[in-house]
Amino acid sequence: MPHREIYCNNCKKTLGMYNAKYFSENGLGELLNNLDSMHIKRGHAIEIRMK
Ligand SMILES: [Zn+2]
Repeated sequence: MPHREIYCNNCKKTLGMYNAKYFSENGLGELLNNLDSMHIKRGHAIEIRMK
């Protein structure tokens, strides 16, 4: 089962893990906007890794 890991390169930590089966690209984008707005506002580099 593929998973996507949301990782912040500045904080050096995983923000969340999502089952790719349940999140479309668009759904994941919306999720990211909510979850990571704090990091993004600070200019952190958010990376989505496939597991
Ligand atoms: Zn961060």
